[in-house]
Amino acid sequence: MHVLGMTLAKRRLLRACVAAAVTGAAQAAQAAVVAVDVGHSLARSGSTSASGKPEFQYNQALARDVIAGLAAAGLQTRAIGMDGEMDVLTARTEAARGADLFLSIHHDSVQPQYLPVADRFAGYGVFASRKNPDPKKSLACSVAVADRLQAIGRAPSLHHAEPIKGENRPLADAQRGVYWFDDLVVLKTAKQPALLVEAAITVNPAEDNMISDSRNRKLIASAIVAGVADCLRGGAGRS
Ligand SMILES: [Zn+2]
Repeated sequence: MHVLGMTLAKRRLLRACVAAAVTGAAQAAQAAVVAVDVGHSLARSGSTSASGKPEFQYNQALARDVIAGLAAAGLQTRAIGMDGEMDVLTARTEAARGADLFLSIHHDSVQPQYLPVADRFAGYGVFASRKNPDPKKSLACSVAVADRLQAIGRAPSLHHAEPIKGENRPLADAQRGVYWFDDLVVLKTAKQPALLVEAAITVNPAEDNMISDSRNRKLIASAIVAGVADCLRGGAGRS
């Protein structure tokens, strides 16, 4: 109704604005490539869950959902290590060259003295490195993902900050469960901002059951996707 009643000049302006918005969106989508790294491999499969499954299996399933979600959100994706054949960590960051963000998907464990019963450990964790070429953007993306995970009711687990051997990680943001892990190879050697998400602590049977339900896994994937989209839209640190 309003469009029909417009003057020719206004209609031209509207068309120009719509065209600019579409071009802008296309350019943003073109620029934003997310490298989704499937943590571990078939040969080096990571931790073992309470139900006895290798971590790689959980990482692969969640990474698939994350990739589908990112694509649905209009972002480009590049899967790293999806087939389970990637054993060299630096090959992962090499394969991610040219991407705008490196997102590594993992599931968490605890120190061996707390096993086999790890019921008291639950939640997510996010890691970034100060040795990454863009620690500021890495942290911003970690915070954005953590915020979205909290928005769906996930709580951060702070067990990596415990002052014991194997942990003792400095918290970059204690409220959000974001840690600094400066020498984590993929975060340090990535050529772009990078974060590593530990989606759940699968050595805890309750967490294992939760994430093994595809509805929960998809919800967690959608939270990760929303955080990544928030962070990439933010644009800060894009150099
Ligand atoms: Zn892992």
